[in-house]
Amino acid sequence: MKLKDKVLIIEDEQNISNFISTVLTANDFDVLVANNGAQALSVITSHCPDLIILDLGLPDMDGGNILREVRSWSNLPIIVVSARTHEHDKVAALDMGADDYIEKPFGTSELLARIRTAIRHTRTPLENSSIARSGKFSVRGLMIDYDKHRVFVDGDDVHLTLNEFKIVALLGKHAGKVLTYDFLIREIWGPKAKADNQILRVNMANIRRKIEKNPADPQYIFTEIGVGYRMLDGEN
Ligand code: CA
Repeated sequence: MKLKDKVLIIEDEQNISNFISTVLTANDFDVLVANNGAQALSVITSHCPDLIILDLGLPDMDGGNILREVRSWSNLPIIVVSARTHEHDKVAALDMGADDYIEKPFGTSELLARIRTAIRHTRTPLENSSIARSGKFSVRGLMIDYDKHRVFVDGDDVHLTLNEFKIVALLGKHAGKVLTYDFLIREIWGPKAKADNQILRVNMANIRRKIEKNPADPQYIFTEIGVGYRMLDGEN
């Protein structure tokens, strides 16, 4: 099984939102949907999508506000989709930090191509990264399968997203050692990533929800307050 990328669609027009959602689901993406700006911001912080598709004309705020807000703490790829076709609207969106701009209406293949490009540009491929290794890492009931890119707890696949897998994989590779926040951010999101810990904290909260029996009292990945995270030392 391939790890799915999680895409958040921020769009108030139901037809367009449904269209994008159908296309992405059929092409093996996990899809989240928000119909307004406030909902979008809350989904972003709670779910940490891998990519955002953003409509600029939202009922409660201008999409540009979301762009600026997200860019203040994260490099996660954002593709603006808008009916505004003026050159200055595109330039403004790109200046605010959008990775790409698609005019409505647009076709399926164009959308998919732009998404793939945006994701590729903001990510170091798993194969070439420092996470790459083969074999398995096991400690207590936790098992990281580096060949299949999957993590199991007591034999069950916990279905991590790609970024969640990268974090766990990296900690497993250096089990017993503390990896600093900055190191993890650089390794997962690339050398140009902003050194803000919020995106890492959200990912860690999601990971703990999936792998720990009691996320508030973790048994596998420990927080070294103000420093970073450490994986319980392995058995192999
Ligand atoms: Ca709209």
